[in-house]
Amino acid sequence: MNRGWTKMAVWKCEACGETKEGRCKPQKCPKCEAKGQFVKAEEK
Ligand SMILES: [Zn+2]
Repeated sequence: MNRGWTKMAVWKCEACGETKEGRCKPQKCPKCEAKGQFVKAEEK
């Protein structure tokens, strides 16, 4: 059982292609500073 564990996911910025791993969706891209451009690319 993995109760309490939040799955990591890979998020991809649709504006510049930057990928970032995290538990929740990044608000802002660290590379191009676009907001709300991240989409889930992969579940880990
Ligand atoms: Zn970006």
